[in-house]
Amino acid sequence: MSFWENKSVLVTGGAGFLGQHMVQRLEKMGAHVFVPRRKDYDLTVLEACVQCMRDAAPQIVIHSAAYYGGIWINQLYPGKIYYENLVMGANVMEAARLAKVEKFVAIGTACSYPGYLEGELSETNLWDGPLHESVVNYGMTKKMMAVQAMAYKKQYNFNAIHLILTNLYGPGDTYNPDRSHVPAALIRKFVEAKLANARSVEVWGSGAPIREFLYVEDCADAILKAAELYNNLAPMNIGPGKGTSIRELAETIQSVSGFNGKIEWNRSKPDGQMKKVLNVSRMKQILKWEPPTSLRNGLEKTILWYEANKKAADARY
Ligand code: GDP
Repeated sequence: MSFWENKSVLVTGGAGFLGQHMVQRLEKMGAHVFVPRRKDYDLTVLEACVQCMRDAAPQIVIHSAAYYGGIWINQLYPGKIYYENLVMGANVMEAARLAKVEKFVAIGTACSYPGYLEGELSETNLWDGPLHESVVNYGMTKKMMAVQAMAYKKQYNFNAIHLILTNLYGPGDTYNPDRSHVPAALIRKFVEAKLANARSVEVWGSGAPIREFLYVEDCADAILKAAELYNNLAPMNIGPGKGTSIRELAETIQSVSGFNGKIEWNRSKPDGQMKKVLNVSRMKQILKWEPPTSLRNGLEKTILWYEANKKAADARY
C-alpha cells in the first residue's frame, strides 16, 4: 500500500501551477485531496483557515499557495506580495497546529537565500546574509515559515518540513508577461515571434545571470517524496543542482521553438540576483532521487503544451 493511499491531504494552491500537478499525482495514488478555492476560503484570514481545516480534516497539509511571480511582479506589487504571503503562511500553519495535523509541508523558495553569496547555496547558508533587493519582499515571507516551524516544534511539538524550490517551468505556468518567470516569458515571446515572422525577440538584462530550472512535474514528485520520507526541521533544497545562464536558456528556447530571427538584449531591464543555484546533496541523499527531465526535454514538452493551449495559457494570471 502506498504511503498516500487513503490519506487526507489539504493542498493550498492546489489549483495553481505547481499545485495541480501534485493534486493529480495524489489522486492517482489514492489520497483524498481537498483544494481550497479563494472564493470559499480567504487564507489571509485566520478564521477562514480554521474553517478550511474543519472542512478538510487533513492528516497532511501542503502549503503551496503563494502570490508571486517573476522579477517584474516584484517591482509592480511588492507590498501585496509581502503581505499576502506573510499572513497566509502564518495563518495556514497556525490553523494546521490547532487542527493537530500529522505533518505540515511548507513550500519555500530559493529567493529566501542570501542574494550576494558566491557559489552554490546549501541549506546551511540560509541565514548567512541579506536577501537580494529584487525579491526580499517575497523571499523573507517564505523564510518566516521556517522560523514559525522551529517555534512550533519547541512549544507544541509541531511536525513541519520546509522545502526550498528553485525556478519552475512547465505546463500550467503563468504566461502573462507582468507575472511570468523567465522560462514562460521567453516561451511566449519566441512562439509569438515565430507565428508573426518577427525579426527579433527582446530578452531582458545582460544574459549573464545564472538560474536553475526545474520541470514542474519533477518538482511535484520531489515534494511528495519529501513529504513521505523527510522529517527534520532543517530545510531541504529541491532542484536539478545545475546552473544555466539566461543566455543559454534563451538560445535553447529559440532553437526548440524554431525561431530563426535575432535575440536583442534589453539592458534597461533588471538582471536580479547574479547566481541562484542550489546545492541538492541533501535531496539526493535522502530522497535517493534526481530530477529525470533534462532542460531541453522539459522545454520541448512545455512548448508543445503551450502551442496547443495558447489561448487559455495566455489568459491565466
Ligand atoms: P528571478 O529568478 O526572481 O530573478 O525571476 P525571473 O525568472 O523573472 O528572472 C530571471 C532572469 O531572467 C532575470 O535576470 C531577468 O532579467 C531575465 N529575463 C530575461 N528576459 C526575461 C523576461 O522576458 N521575463 C522575465 N521575467 N525575466 C527575463
